[in-house]
Amino acid sequence: MPNFPNIILYAIPFFILAMALELYVTTRAQLKHVKGYEVKDAFASIAMGLGNVFLGFASKAIVLLVFFWIYDNYRLFEIPIVWWSFVLLFFADDFSYYWFHRISHECRLFWASHVVHHSSQHYNLSTALRQTWSGGFYTFIFWLWLPLLGFHPAMIMLQMSISLLYQFWIHTEAIDKMPRWFEAIFNTPSHHRVHHGSNPIYLDRNHAGILIIWDRLFGTFQPELKEEKVTYGLVKNIKTFNPIKIAFIEWIYMFRDALSGRKTLKDRFLYLIKPPGWKHDGTGKISDDLRQEWLNSKN
Ligand SMILES: [Zn+2]
Ligand SMILES: [Zn+2]
Repeated sequence: MPNFPNIILYAIPFFILAMALELYVTTRAQLKHVKGYEVKDAFASIAMGLGNVFLGFASKAIVLLVFFWIYDNYRLFEIPIVWWSFVLLFFADDFSYYWFHRISHECRLFWASHVVHHSSQHYNLSTALRQTWSGGFYTFIFWLWLPLLGFHPAMIMLQMSISLLYQFWIHTEAIDKMPRWFEAIFNTPSHHRVHHGSNPIYLDRNHAGILIIWDRLFGTFQPELKEEKVTYGLVKNIKTFNPIKIAFIEWIYMFRDALSGRKTLKDRFLYLIKPPGWKHDGTGKISDDLRQEWLNSKN
């Protein structure tokens, strides 16, 4: 089997250099509008990133095992590892990423692990490192159709890492807008700032990995508005810098909602399936409700 290196590890020195550069650039007078870094917040993000890489050794072993089991026993086509299969894989992976990411916002079982990435109220390159500790063990299900088609598991893992690396540089306020053609096709700092916003108009928008075209195609695209400055973080912020709490608090909240009180078995189950904010008694508000309320208040 081809041996593709774990490119995330090689990128760590580059992450550190880029954060230093961003810190230098944004603390200069010209970029006063930028909130920049808060020491405790940045260190919490870096701790989440290190934990993610460390746990990644275990989760990636499981993912490879499952990918190879499907690839070896059930693959539909013989896809060679050549330039054109990487082109196909680029689109297939990015499409998978879009749906993984969208469901991660619209289903609480996946939100429980993804919420980590949105738990900072700051937005800078360190926010990109604020990665889940639990997601790696089950969110790979969105990519299972790729080894089934016949893409080699090592290729898929490499492309998933390339996608993650791409998304590092877009976590910044230091870049306003890229050229128009670039904003039209690719995920950018501007598009992804929207994704990290808790403003009702920005909730659950721009789920793209590398290509923003999926959001335009599937109706979840929202441009960054000059008159609506992004408020970063969650609708209800978790207010902690403790990495263990950041990693697991939403799991606890979710199971508490599912298991506590008197409710039907179906309602308990729905707490794992429905979007964050949903309540079985109808009093909950999900992103669509908050957006509609905001839009109504504007008219
Ligand atoms: Zn997200
Ligand atoms: Zn992000």
